[in-house]
Amino acid sequence: MRIRTPLAAATSAGLLAALAVVSPTAVADDAAQQPAARPTAKKPTAIGTGGAVTTVDPEATAAGLKVLKAGGNAVDAAVAAAATLGVTEPYSAGIGGGGYFVYYDAKSGKVRTLDGRETAPRKMPQDAFIDPATGKPYPFTPDLVTSGVSVGTPGTLATWDKALANWGTLSLADALAPATRVATRGFVVDETFRQQTLDNEERFRAFKDTKKLFLPKGDAPKVGSVFRNPELAATYDSIALHGTDAFYRGPLARLMSSVVRNPRTTKNTDLPTPKGYLTPRDLRDYKVRSQKATRTTYRGHDVYGMAPSSSGGTTVGEALNILERYDLSAMTTEQALHHYLEASALAFADRGKYVGDPAFVDVPVKKLLDDTFAAERACGINPAKAATKPVAAGDVSSYDGVCGPATAKGTTDTDTENISTTNMTVTDKWGNVVEYTLTIEQTGGSGMVVPGHGFLLNNELTDFSTVYDAADPNRIQPGKRPRSSMSPTIVLKDGKPFLALGSPGGSTIITTVLQVLVNRIDLGMTIQDAIAAPRASQRNTASVTAEPDFITLYGPALTALGHTLAPAGDAFTSASEIGAATAIEFGPRKRLTAVAEPERRGTGSAAVVSPR
Ligand code: GLU
Repeated sequence: MRIRTPLAAATSAGLLAALAVVSPTAVADDAAQQPAARPTAKKPTAIGTGGAVTTVDPEATAAGLKVLKAGGNAVDAAVAAAATLGVTEPYSAGIGGGGYFVYYDAKSGKVRTLDGRETAPRKMPQDAFIDPATGKPYPFTPDLVTSGVSVGTPGTLATWDKALANWGTLSLADALAPATRVATRGFVVDETFRQQTLDNEERFRAFKDTKKLFLPKGDAPKVGSVFRNPELAATYDSIALHGTDAFYRGPLARLMSSVVRNPRTTKNTDLPTPKGYLTPRDLRDYKVRSQKATRTTYRGHDVYGMAPSSSGGTTVGEALNILERYDLSAMTTEQALHHYLEASALAFADRGKYVGDPAFVDVPVKKLLDDTFAAERACGINPAKAATKPVAAGDVSSYDGVCGPATAKGTTDTDTENISTTNMTVTDKWGNVVEYTLTIEQTGGSGMVVPGHGFLLNNELTDFSTVYDAADPNRIQPGKRPRSSMSPTIVLKDGKPFLALGSPGGSTIITTVLQVLVNRIDLGMTIQDAIAAPRASQRNTASVTAEPDFITLYGPALTALGHTLAPAGDAFTSASEIGAATAIEFGPRKRLTAVAEPERRGTGSAAVVSPR
């Protein structure tokens, strides 16, 4: 693999100096003189010009902003921010995971994407999720989620490298430098970090290296304390020096394989931690895929999203095509929400039937995004009554947009995606835009830290269907990417950026992006309000998952229409929230509105280069 040295790829000496690039040896010497972790104020909205960054975390946003201010572009800033999220949001993202990178290139006016999804190891058998001891599927929790068997070949570092090589100006070494600094000097622990650690306590205690790193002195780091990760700093430094080979080949690759194949558990854990299949060869052969973005038109906008292996682009796109057939802006909010929920259920039915990794299954992307198909799917919406869920998938092999007799009953696509991940939106003074969602799957990933390296391995393969069915596009196959819901989305109007947005949240990512778009484009909310508004998610299941405020506001009207609303929350967290979106809106006279969550996930952090 290609290695660019910091100096060879530097855009200017000033930029290097501004990023405080350090050599690996300098890090150790420097550690004693590192400034104290800085206080981290969070500002969820920033308005101004000259570039913007919005993430869930103030350190990551600051790292991205610093790169922009030093003359880097949106891709440079996104990688710097992502690497920093690997430090400050280690339970949601990092080099042990994967993600999807969507890029609008201002010069060409084109949207490009990178699929950095984890892959199933070559030796992963189709019955990998069956417990040989019982002949039955492993219980999803705790067995499958906290295991070697759910660890896919990580794609995040390769994504950063490829994004920089394609469109960036910084070397990988320079882009990692701000994050290395944060890992060395530490960051201030907030409620979210402590709570996420506590939510994972049993899993983290099960692994020696994880316990040592994230439960120092036997407890989750206290709110207000400084958390340092020198081992991650050293890992980043080794990558800075040797390039991605320091990760995908050699001792670290062998170590990751060994951890996955023989999880290093503590003696007294009861967790079963099934063994996995990752080999050094899987790591060596990992490739990021350059993909054509999905494109849908919606009320005069061009909506670009992530193609399969993510189901984000097709599912958001199909639901928008269905919704475009109705004038939501002329409806009451309750009626508009009813249509939003119904369109989402229909699109999710098709997601379940047709979407998987296109390298292994034929995904009818064009048909799923065809307006005639949407017209026929819209026949399933009755303005006066919610359809009985699950609704059936449409037939992409034969449709004419005309409503026929009601179709058969649908099947529920078992939803095993967990609620974690992180998302960012970045733009620069040239007008380039990055929307990037990255993850290690559930909060805390597999629970397994790579010894001496300071990062967690993903449990992304749990996104495969857990029971093998040859007709299922998301069945386990060696080398395959499990279907994702990540939906980094860039919306253009008249060929220019109008809005970029994305969110974490497992399969609720799709509905969060869809709901924010409907809020902004149809319901006339500002982008700040569109993100803050209470959320609900209908993924073709009997009940709609909803935030408490949504239930309070719309529960009675939607229940009267036949919807059943159930409060959000999962088995792992006490949170009753859906998603943690970020967005940037592009206004007249180059005005940027960068937005993060005002409350969810402990408040996000938005910043602009030149505040208004
Ligand atoms: N594994 C999920 C996906 O790829 C993301 C996990 C999450 O957002 O929590 O869609």
